[in-house]
Amino acid sequence: MKKKSGLFALLICFMLLLAACGGNKTSGGSEEKGLIGVAMPTKSSQRWVDDGNNMVKQLKELGYKTDLQYAEDDVDKQIEQIENMIVKGAEILVVASIDGTALTNVLEKAAEQDIQVIAYDRLIMGTENVSYYATFDNFQVGVLQANYIEEALKLSEEAGPFNIELFAGSPDDNNANFFWDGAISVLQPHIDSGKLVIQSGQTSFEQGATMRWDGNLAKSRMENILSKSYSNGETVDAVLSPYDGISRGVIQALKGVGYGSGDLPLPIITGQDAESASVKSMIAGEQTQTVFKDTRDLAAVVVDMIQSIQKGEEAEVNDTETYDNGKKVVPSYLVEPVSVDINNYKEKLIDSEYYTEDELK
Ligand code: BGC
Repeated sequence: MKKKSGLFALLICFMLLLAACGGNKTSGGSEEKGLIGVAMPTKSSQRWVDDGNNMVKQLKELGYKTDLQYAEDDVDKQIEQIENMIVKGAEILVVASIDGTALTNVLEKAAEQDIQVIAYDRLIMGTENVSYYATFDNFQVGVLQANYIEEALKLSEEAGPFNIELFAGSPDDNNANFFWDGAISVLQPHIDSGKLVIQSGQTSFEQGATMRWDGNLAKSRMENILSKSYSNGETVDAVLSPYDGISRGVIQALKGVGYGSGDLPLPIITGQDAESASVKSMIAGEQTQTVFKDTRDLAAVVVDMIQSIQKGEEAEVNDTETYDNGKKVVPSYLVEPVSVDINNYKEKLIDSEYYTEDELK
C-alpha cells in the first residue's frame, strides 16, 4: 500500500512538473503570446483575404492571438476597428490602410498605450506613430507593367504609332503614385517620341485615377474613352492597368464594343496581384499580364518585424530612404514583385503552390 501511494505521489509530482513546463504552450508547442491586431481594407479583393489568412496562420503557429478585421473599404469602419483592437489590449497593430492619411488620430491613441504599428503593404501617411513599413517594391511594380507593354509592342524595333490608355490606382493610396511613377518612367520616352499615343488625351495621374481601385469605375471610364476617342476607326493597342480588378473592368468595356472577337484582338492589358480571376482571364487569352506579389513572403516579413519589436530589437529592413510619409522616413522592407503572363504562370503560381491547378480552372 505504502509503495503504491509513493508511486502515486511521484506520478502527481511528474504531472505537476509537466503542467508547469507545458502550461504555457499551445497545441502547436510554441509559447502563448499576446494579441496582434491585423486591420485589412476589404474582402472584395482576393489578395487582402490571402494576406489576412497568411498573417493569422503564421502568427498562430508562433503562439500569438490575433484579431483580424476587414473594413470593406469604409474608412470610419477601419478607424473603429483599430480603436477596438486598442481597447482589447493588442500589443502590436498591423494596418493595411484604406485611406493612408486618415489614421493620425487613432494611431495617436495607440501611441499613448505604447502600441507599435506596422504599415502593411500601404504606407500610413502624416504620422510619427508608425514603426515599420513592409511592402513590395512598388515603383518596380509599375516598371514591370510598362516593360511588359514595351516588349509586347516591340517598341524598340517597331515604328508604331501605337495607341495606349493609362489607368492609375486609388488617389488615397500612396502605392498608386509609385505604380504610376514606375510605369511612366518607362513609357514617357515613347510618349514623347510619338510612338505611343494616348488618343483620349488623359495623360495625368489624376485623370487616370480609380477611386478605391473600383473595377466598375474603370469600366465606365474605359467605355467613355472608347466612345469619345475610338469611334473614328482608331483601335486600342495597350492598356496600362495597375490592378487586376481594374483590368477586368477594362476588358468588359472593350469586349462590349467588340474587342476580342472577329479581327479586333484585345489589346495588351497589364495588371497586379495575380488574382485567380485574372489568371483565368490570362489562360482564356484576355488579360495579358499581371504582377505577382507573394503575400506569404510579405506576411513572413511582418511576423519577423513583430518578433523583433517584442524582443526590443530593431527589425530587419532593406530600405531607409524611399518611404517618407510626411512626418518621417519609415524604415521599410521591400519584397520583390514578379511579372507573370501565360508563359510563366505555371512556374510562378502553381509550382510555388500559391494556387493549385484546380483553382485556376
Ligand atoms: C496594393 C495592390 C493592390 C491595390 C488594390 C495596393 O495598395 O499594393 O497590390 O492591387 O492596392 O487592392
